Amino acid sequence: MSVWTDKASTLLVDGEPAPGSGGRFDTANPATEEVLGTAANATAADMDRAIGAARRAFDETEWSRDLDLRVHCLEQLSRSLREHADELRELTIAEVGAPRFLTHGAQLDAPIADVAHFAGIAAGYEWTHDLGVAEPMGMPSRRWTRREAVGVVGAITPWNFPHQINLAKLGPALAAGNTVVLKPAPDTPWCAAAVGEILLNETDIPPGVVNIVTSDDHALGAQLSSDDRVDLVSFTGSTATGRAVMAAGAPGIKRTFLELGGKSAFVVLDDADLGAACGLAAFTVCTHAGQGCALTTRLLVPRAHYDEAVALTAKALRGVGVGDPDDPGTVCGPLISARQRDRVESYLALAEEEGGEFACGGGRAERDRGFFVEPTLITGLSNESRVAREEIFGPVLVILPHDGDDDAVRIANDSPYGLSGAVHGQDLERARGVAARIRTGTVGINGGVWYGADAPFGGYKQSGIGREMGVAGFEEYLETKLIAEPA
Ligand code: NAD
Repeated sequence: MSVWTDKASTLLVDGEPAPGSGGRFDTANPATEEVLGTAANATAADMDRAIGAARRAFDETEWSRDLDLRVHCLEQLSRSLREHADELRELTIAEVGAPRFLTHGAQLDAPIADVAHFAGIAAGYEWTHDLGVAEPMGMPSRRWTRREAVGVVGAITPWNFPHQINLAKLGPALAAGNTVVLKPAPDTPWCAAAVGEILLNETDIPPGVVNIVTSDDHALGAQLSSDDRVDLVSFTGSTATGRAVMAAGAPGIKRTFLELGGKSAFVVLDDADLGAACGLAAFTVCTHAGQGCALTTRLLVPRAHYDEAVALTAKALRGVGVGDPDDPGTVCGPLISARQRDRVESYLALAEEEGGEFACGGGRAERDRGFFVEPTLITGLSNESRVAREEIFGPVLVILPHDGDDDAVRIANDSPYGLSGAVHGQDLERARGVAARIRTGTVGINGGVWYGADAPFGGYKQSGIGREMGVAGFEEYLETKLIAEPA
């Protein structure tokens, strides 16, 4: 693998490495602010070629019909990525600022294994289903359904968990028989280019089936989401961009799969172990500096225990602190960029304007370099405040009082988002009842972890449309055809 050593990542277009007609752009280490090197910078013409290659590979090759080849290629890809896991790990820590401990899970090792899981789903899938004989309008007919690939998939991804999100789109899309154009985020081009290089050199995936187009120009995402040759856009990112992707696809009635933002609630019921719950809430919001769409960022505690919960949570947040992502003990590394740090700081200023106070944190961490923000707990705001309603994407927790289970459910659901949540309480039936009333795609009870290759993940309301991972995630990339013959 050469990306990491010679710092010369390329595009992958039609089975060839390509330089990028727009020259090169820098990729940097968010923990040190040092430029790591450069990535190939695609233009609209490169994107056009990539879409054309994916279209031809779908229309003119056997890829979509050759299940054995697809299973073989995805198992190969998972194996090859695993063989390069240590290089990819160092690259990911450097380019994403991902804490090392997370690369042993959702930032790297888990998504690599998940590629093989999707091969397994495809291998065991019931591609045809016999509906039997019926006599519509007196004409006996045997009918069956056939599941087929949708066609060309445009995959557009963010920077926060690049391998997880890139591979959670590539794996099921390819397993289902589609061809793909992947446009990763401008902040993390190397993570995608490295996967492209391994895929090109070490797998039998045919030319044009996977194309990877790195660029510092967001307009290439817009181009991919509006091109008529693309059948399905699979997008992960902010709700604002998701709205643009949906609008861009509307004239062509393009299938659009969206994984968007969140403002998830961590509900502590009055029979919960308050210390344990507040400790977990603090740890969660600090993970990868709060740069996770499904992290719980509103902590709802019983009003009678509000002050105690503030003290416990602030203490836990101070205990986590920030650290070098390279250090295995670090939970809260840097934000991805100066732009993202500015955005988080603007929300901290807004919190004060709205009447909030900081029980801990509230500004930049004292470090010489890197885009670090202190773990922060905001008190004194209501759920109507912008800080409690909008996604901040930093290690920032808003603590809100509730007046019992019904009120907690009301506050949790009073959000434009519906991505995830948590419920803590000793009476399990009661906690389950609250979880059932929370309108989100995932809920963890008492620390239960919902993440997994077989576990569908996605959002209600403005957090998205569709599910990623699991059989449901695989089926997002399939069409259903019904065939009927005289019986
Ligand atoms: P973003 O929306 O700014 O960018 C995401 C991707 O979209 C990038 O590749 C970007 O280049 C591209 N893009 C930008 N403008 C576009 C346009 N007009 N048309 C098409 N593509 C365009 O998001 P981000 O800042 O990179 O990532 C952070 C956001 O992602 C947060 O809101 C977070 O909640 C969300 N996210 C959601 C999930 C999920 O699964 N629900 C997972 C991770 C991140």
